[in-house]
Amino acid sequence: MRTGIATVCLSGTLKEKMQACAIAGFDGIEIFEQDLVTTALSPEDVRKMAADLGLGLDLYQPFRDFDGVTPDLLKANLKRAEAKFNLMERLGMDTILVCSNVATATIDDDGLRAEQLDELARLAGDHGVKVAYEALAWGKYVNDYEHAYRLVEMVDHPNLGTCLDSFHILSRDWDTAPIEDMNAEKIFFVQVADAPQLTMDVLSWSRHYRVFPGEGQFELAKFMGHVVRAGYTGPVSLEVFNDVFRQSDTERTAVDAMRSLIWLEEQSAKWLSGSPAETGAGTQGNNRRRYPMELATLPKVNEPAGFNFAEVKADDTAQLEKLLGQLGFEFNGRHRTKDVQLWTMGQARVIINEQAASHAEPAIAALGFDVDSPVIASARAQQLKAPVVARRVQADEEVFQGIAAPDSTEIFLCQGSPDGTAAWTQEFGEGVGHPEAGRAAVIDHVNLAQPWQHFDEAVLFYTSALALEPQPFAEVPSPGGLVRSQVMQTGNKAVRLVLNLAPAQQAEKARKTYQEHIAFAVDDLVATARSARDRGLEFLQIPANYYEDLDARFDLEPGFLATLKELNLLYDRDADGEFLHFYTATVGSVFFEMAERRGSYDGYGAPNAPVRHAVQYDSLHRV
Ligand code: MG
Ligand code: MG
Repeated sequence: MRTGIATVCLSGTLKEKMQACAIAGFDGIEIFEQDLVTTALSPEDVRKMAADLGLGLDLYQPFRDFDGVTPDLLKANLKRAEAKFNLMERLGMDTILVCSNVATATIDDDGLRAEQLDELARLAGDHGVKVAYEALAWGKYVNDYEHAYRLVEMVDHPNLGTCLDSFHILSRDWDTAPIEDMNAEKIFFVQVADAPQLTMDVLSWSRHYRVFPGEGQFELAKFMGHVVRAGYTGPVSLEVFNDVFRQSDTERTAVDAMRSLIWLEEQSAKWLSGSPAETGAGTQGNNRRRYPMELATLPKVNEPAGFNFAEVKADDTAQLEKLLGQLGFEFNGRHRTKDVQLWTMGQARVIINEQAASHAEPAIAALGFDVDSPVIASARAQQLKAPVVARRVQADEEVFQGIAAPDSTEIFLCQGSPDGTAAWTQEFGEGVGHPEAGRAAVIDHVNLAQPWQHFDEAVLFYTSALALEPQPFAEVPSPGGLVRSQVMQTGNKAVRLVLNLAPAQQAEKARKTYQEHIAFAVDDLVATARSARDRGLEFLQIPANYYEDLDARFDLEPGFLATLKELNLLYDRDADGEFLHFYTATVGSVFFEMAERRGSYDGYGAPNAPVRHAVQYDSLHRV
C-alpha cells in the first residue's frame, strides 16, 4: 500500500512538514495549496526537497468551485485551472484534486456539469495533468461519491477520474459496497480520515474533528476493503483536519499518522480475509484472493489476559508504603539488585520504584500486561512505531519487553501464566508463593491522565499495539472543567484502562496536578474498608449530601446506607448489578481505589465521579 499524507494534517512550515513526513516513513504527500502559497520556497525548491527526501508529490489540492457554473464563470475557472496546471508542472506534480462546487454552482444539470468537466479534462490533458474529482459531503448539487463517479463516467476522458474521501462518504453514511464495482482506472486518489460520531453540521465536523484512522468511529477497514477489491493501487493518503494536530509537535504527529495507516492496512487485510466474498465458494488455494494492492500485515497479538503489575515511581516512598499497608497489601521485599519494592494483595501486584526518581512526587510510571508472547507483542508494537524502553537487567533476571505510551507511561509486555502468578516476583525478597485462597484481589482498572495534545494518539496506541477496544467516551463534570473519559478495555474486561483528558487548567502541569489512580477489586469491600480504617487509612471524605442523594435515588436499606456513610463508601447500581468503592487520599499525583463488583456490574461508578473530582479539587485547593 502506498502511504501518503496531506500537509494540512500537520503543524509547522512546509519544510518542517515535509521533513517530518520523510522521517515518519511516508511514500508521498499531498501539497495543500495554503502551504505552498505561504512558503518562501520556490516550486522548484519544493520539487527538489521532495526528491531529496524520497517523498512523492502525489496530489495538489484543493481546486474549488469549478463545475455547474455560468459560461462567464467557466471561462474564469478554466483560466484559474491553467495557472495551477502550469504551477504543477514546475512542482513536477501530475494529479490535482477538484472538489464538487459548494459556492458558485447555480445550475443543477448533470449534462452541463459533464460538459464543463470535459473541458477541464481536455485542458488538463494538454498539460499532462490528471483531475481527481471529489464529492464534498456538503457540495451544493454533488455530495455523493456515486454521483461524482457517474459524472466521471459520462465524461469518460483519460485525464478525469474520481477521488474517494472516506470522510465525505462515511459522514453521510453512504453505502461503501458500490465502490467495488468502480473501474479502478477511474479512481485517481483515495483519502482516508476517521472521525468521532458527532451530531453537528458536516462542514464543521470535517474541518475540526477529523482524526487519524483508529482514533474515531468510522468503519474504515471495510471502506478500504471495498477500495482494494475495486483493484485500486494508488496512494492511500491521510487528509485530516484537526485543531489539535495542527498545533502539536510536527514529527510526533507524523509518526502518529503513520501508525494509523500501518494499522489500517492490517485491519483492511483482516476485513478482506474475513468477509464473505473471500471465504465463499469460488476462492482457491489458501482461501485468500489476491488483489493488485498488496496489504502488509503485522505480528499478531491477542488482547492481554490481565494486568501483570502496576508501578509507582517515587523518591520518598514512606507515604506510599503506609497507604498500601493500610489497604491490606503485603510487603514482599525488595528486589535483589534494584531499589524496587514489591507489594501484593492476591493477584494485584504493585511495584514501588525508587530508581531515578529523585525529587519525583509519587506517580504511576509503568503498567505490566500479560500477553501470550512478549516477543511477538513487542515486535508488533515496534512495527507500529512505539518507542522501546529498556530496563537494566542482570543475567538471571526476567527481561521485560517495554514500550512507551504517548503519555510516557512505560508499558511492559509480560509472559502471562494461567494461574495468575508472575515468575519475576521470585527476584524479590524471599519470593512470593501462590496467592492465598480467598484473596482474589486483582487490579480492576487503571486511570491515566492524558495530555490534551496526545489524547487521540493514546487511543490509537492502545488499540493498535495492545488490542484494547475503545468504548464510547463520557464527559465527567469537575470543578476544574469537563474531564473527557475514554475507557479502553479487553473483550473479557480483564484489562480496563481509563484515559482521562484533564481540563486545560489542570493539565497545565499535566501529571503533577492531575490525579491518576489504580483501582483494585476485592471480594468484600465493607470488610476491606473496615480493616483499612482500623489500620488508620485516610479515606477520601465523601460529603453527607451525597448520601442523601443516594438514598433518594436508590431507596437503600437504612443499615446499609449507614455503613456506606460511616466508611466513606460510594455506591452505584444498574440493571447488571452493584458497585461499591472508596478512594484513598492522594499522594503526589496518585491515589488508590478499592472496589467490589456485584453481579455483572460493568461500569466504574460514573455517577460518583463528579463527587470524587469535587472532593479532590477541594483538598488540592485547601493546601
Ligand atoms: Mg478530501
Ligand atoms: Mg476508578
